[in-house]
Amino acid sequence: MSEGKNEQNIAEVLVPGVPKSLAYHIGSTTPEADVGDIVSVEVGRRRATGWLINITDRSNIKLSSKSRAKSSEQLSLITKETKNTAVNGIKPLLDNTPAFTPELLEMFQWISSYYGCKLSDVIDTALPKISRGRKVKRFYLGSAGAALLGELENGKSSKITKKQLVLAALAELGDVGATSSDLKDLSSSVSTILSKLEKEGLVSKSEFYKKSTESSGSRKISDTSKNPALNKHQRSAVEAIKGSIKNKLFQPFLLHGVTGSGKTEVYLSCIEEVLKNGGSALVIVPEISLTPQAVDRFRSRLEVKPALLHSQVGATERWQAWTGLLEGRLKVAIGARSAIFAPMKNLSLIVVDEEHEQSYKQSDGVRYNGRDLAILRARLSSCPVVLGSATPSFESLLNAKKNIFKLLEMPERATPRPVPELEIVDLNKFRPKEMASESISPPLAEALVQTIRSGEQAVILYNRRGFSSYLQCDSCGKVVTCADCSISMTWHKRTMKLCCHFCDKKIAAPEFCSTCRDPEQVRIDQDDPDFETHGKLSHRGGGTEKVVDELLSLCPSARIVRMDKDTVGQKGSHRKIIEAMHSGEADILVGTQMIAKGHDLPGVTLVGIIDADIGLNLPDFRSSERAFQLITQAGGRAGRGENPGRVLVQTRQPNHPVIVATSSKRFSAFARYELDHRKILDYPPHQRLLRFIVSSPDPSLARNASEHLTKTVKEIFSETTLDSDSKISHLVLGPAPAAYEKLRGRFRWHVLVKCSSASYISALAAKINLYKKDLVGKSDLRIAVDVDPVEML
Ligand code: ADP
Ligand code: ZN
Repeated sequence: MSEGKNEQNIAEVLVPGVPKSLAYHIGSTTPEADVGDIVSVEVGRRRATGWLINITDRSNIKLSSKSRAKSSEQLSLITKETKNTAVNGIKPLLDNTPAFTPELLEMFQWISSYYGCKLSDVIDTALPKISRGRKVKRFYLGSAGAALLGELENGKSSKITKKQLVLAALAELGDVGATSSDLKDLSSSVSTILSKLEKEGLVSKSEFYKKSTESSGSRKISDTSKNPALNKHQRSAVEAIKGSIKNKLFQPFLLHGVTGSGKTEVYLSCIEEVLKNGGSALVIVPEISLTPQAVDRFRSRLEVKPALLHSQVGATERWQAWTGLLEGRLKVAIGARSAIFAPMKNLSLIVVDEEHEQSYKQSDGVRYNGRDLAILRARLSSCPVVLGSATPSFESLLNAKKNIFKLLEMPERATPRPVPELEIVDLNKFRPKEMASESISPPLAEALVQTIRSGEQAVILYNRRGFSSYLQCDSCGKVVTCADCSISMTWHKRTMKLCCHFCDKKIAAPEFCSTCRDPEQVRIDQDDPDFETHGKLSHRGGGTEKVVDELLSLCPSARIVRMDKDTVGQKGSHRKIIEAMHSGEADILVGTQMIAKGHDLPGVTLVGIIDADIGLNLPDFRSSERAFQLITQAGGRAGRGENPGRVLVQTRQPNHPVIVATSSKRFSAFARYELDHRKILDYPPHQRLLRFIVSSPDPSLARNASEHLTKTVKEIFSETTLDSDSKISHLVLGPAPAAYEKLRGRFRWHVLVKCSSASYISALAAKINLYKKDLVGKSDLRIAVDVDPVEML
């Protein structure tokens, strides 16, 4: 408990949806409350759940009122407090277990100011849903109840009713209140009486949860015999990180290790060191449902049971993990992006695996980046943070270049075979009829047949799901697009439907182009002999589903599994597919970018990339970086076991810098080229970005609002003292229609701000978040404010 708490103290409480924090008097009858508690408070006439974020001594406030800036804030607190003293105060919901630590609160406050959003939104995003097992109702006497009790006690009737007994008991208990089981001696039907009194408005109720005590950090039998002896690169990486762990030093490390260099072993050794020293470690991995194997490796190798924090874990289990960590019973947490908020005790190491992954960025609400928060959190906890990747993000590369991050390199594989060279297959050299199948070239087909014949396995990447990419009109060239989203729809053979990969709308495939042959109209040229074929729609392009068919025609005996959004819908289906490859039940794994996510499949000796050009030319300044990452990561799945691997990359742009860079493994040259290029164009990592996305079902509303927004942003810049500080540069671009002009029925415009100062970006984001409310008003208009966006489409 906070020291010196007495009747003079006031608690500052944040309630979601209430703009300002509220202040409540903590009287002597109030159950003990502390910072980090989830509390039930009365706001006006309703009871709401909030978070206790501060306890102040009232005498301090009076003393410090000399300071002007502070006093206005605190006066508002006091006013609120006097308003609230008449009500039922404040009640912790959690048996006095706080939901977050002061250290986490500091992080929440930082996030709120950096991303320019409300603190209550940050806390709401960070905390798991309260699910602490059994819910208990607690009742308190309301003012109407007190009045009635007075009347009854002064009344003439000598008979004391059960109702009166219950009211009297509640009056005695005051702010402490009572559950129905506390009062069960008064009457066997006390629950019924209480709910009746509540309905009549005589008592008030708050809900509260019995603390769960399960989920202890019991020892697990771990298979430490599997620990391989570290090689020299791993050893020097581990030594460097251990140094910072021992000295409790904040230090970010960029662990740049080629695919299969054994980064996981490095993480595991460091975590063991942390546990030996009595600390705790936090590991974040991208999209946990896609990386069950990575999680399994941590679980089977660590001596303690790690807490799992991600969306596929049930709410109760997640809450148990949360409290287990908070109380220090659990020492290791593994989870996706949001696990960065886990309430670690004595945090001594943070690991961000595959740090380049886009999924670390939250794409709605508080748009935080888990990787960036890992660095902040390590600084607050004074501990090292390890960012690992075979294909680091350019942000991290630049930080390493500037010595902000310490670069640890592991240039060789830990396994017997080296990272295979990429072999480029120039598709321009083959005429359609020379191809082995529609999308598989003769060299790839040959390699596949040979691989399957020798009992080895193959991985085929095609970053498009479905059977054919789109339906196109033979006469006018128009592509069938989603009516709600401005993107083409994909044909799925299994469901016999066209599907929008953005909003998931599904329609039956039309036979004819609606522009060329409007089914509603009878046309004069219907007698024309060409009319039969006029406006006919043809399947164009391909997808994973179609590649499977082609592979079956080339290798009829092959057992094929497919991994894409359509096949991993169910919980555990992803794991099943990977296990089929692991156990040798499957010969070929076909899939979208999901297959490139760090899987360790030692039987795979061939990787084929069907179309390396997908994604190369997207209107996003990071498209080259991402294409490079995808090709390198996919290629990295080959030759991880005893036998050497081959990687065949099919492309129509063999001279594209990305293709040249991946095939020649000249990553540093490519990075230099990209970094220089971005410097010229003032893009990250050299500059900070802020992106606004304005959207509305009404196209002119979206456009007008984005113009108004742009004007406001420019005004804000001109009002600030920006120009006097010549070191800070800025540029406002737009408004322009977003690359996806329409999504889910909303027209989208965006405005981009480039600025060299992160604090200016944060201040601007906060201002627009404030001003947004005035602009949006009642109309169906949304403005998304995205600090450090990773998505530009
Ligand atoms: P990365 O994450 O860098 O791609 P992994 O950690 O998945 O690499 O390791 C690749 C493979 O190498 C795994 O099967 C792992 O067990 C093995 N491995 C890692 N370190 C060693 C080592 N020192 N000696 C032998 N095998 C190792
Ligand atoms: Zn759609």
